Amino acid sequence: MTLLMIPGPVALHQRVLNAMAKPMINHRSKEFANIYEECVSILKDVFHTKNDIFILSGSGTSGMEAAVSNVVDGDDVITTVNGKFGARFKKIAELYGNAIPVEYRWGNSVELDDIKKALENGAKVVTMVHNETSVGILNPAKEVAALAKKYDALFIMDGISSIGGVDAPIDKWGVDIAIAGSQKCLAAPPGLVAISVSEKAWKRIEETRAPYYLDMKEYRRYANKEVTQTPYTPAIPLFFALQEALRMLREEGMQERIKRHRRCAEAVRKAMEAMGLELFPCLNEISRHSNTVTAVNMPEGITDKQLRDGMREKGVLIAGGQGHLAGKIFRIGHMGIISAKEVLLTIEALESVLAEHGIGTGEGVAAAEQVLKI
Ligand code: PLP
Repeated sequence: MTLLMIPGPVALHQRVLNAMAKPMINHRSKEFANIYEECVSILKDVFHTKNDIFILSGSGTSGMEAAVSNVVDGDDVITTVNGKFGARFKKIAELYGNAIPVEYRWGNSVELDDIKKALENGAKVVTMVHNETSVGILNPAKEVAALAKKYDALFIMDGISSIGGVDAPIDKWGVDIAIAGSQKCLAAPPGLVAISVSEKAWKRIEETRAPYYLDMKEYRRYANKEVTQTPYTPAIPLFFALQEALRMLREEGMQERIKRHRRCAEAVRKAMEAMGLELFPCLNEISRHSNTVTAVNMPEGITDKQLRDGMREKGVLIAGGQGHLAGKIFRIGHMGIISAKEVLLTIEALESVLAEHGIGTGEGVAAAEQVLKI
């Protein structure tokens, strides 16, 4: 079986796969309501929030569009871009309002001063991708949330590839709308997105012309019915799976999970360094390397195709660069339920592929083992 080390969708536990094989149920039944409510309850712990959470049937992007389209109707939106998903937020903001991009080369860090300057001009919505999966950078969401609050703007955070794997305390930071994807750190199949909405965001939503399918007021109305529901037919098998994945997350404990992600990421980074490879992101003092995906500059002497085909032949799937970074970087996903074993298999395969091209030092596995304490 191929080892899936791409930054989502992630490998699923057998318990999660089995959960999807259950017979179909009525989505307007108490049975579905119980599943939905249990998922929301665990997600509130994962998000560290008392805000409302809704689970939409749709991929992460539907959550991004729901967030923007419910609070923006022709308004200015400050939209930070330092990778592909930030660029996507910008496009969505352009569609529903007037995007004011705070833009950097992909992989470069966001500067708070630039956001502050943009806020001084009066925009009342800020979007940011917390973990920019396309470049392996963890953006300073906490700091930007505080800035947005200072200027009385709503802060929308794409936590699609961070929530459930890294520390992202939504209420403590003051994130008004946060989005988590099912197929990333939550270790469920793709196709569901969880979205939290603060009191401040609700006020804005109530004054804004709503989209149809993604109208958050409808999600709230149906969630508050006597039997909890979603407005439209939900992807029921995915809910079965999400419930099981979230139970597994609760069994592990959020803090343990964060530690595991941190340890695996550190092991990957140390291994890259020991192998003489260079990490792609360009960090300032408030940005971090991602703990869910590592982006590495493609070394000289091997092509993207040779590298990834070589890895695939050894049974490990990793990702390439997106957009203009195709061929220039490769990315290793390390989120969900992966452990030391998968990290070491990946490093071992990478070392061996590189060695076939006369690249590397052969010291990657030992460096990773040191972090993983094996
Ligand atoms: N935002 C981030 C940070 C992502 O990593 C992704 C997917 O990789 C998305 C948004 C888009 O999610 P989806 O492909 O589920 O729509």
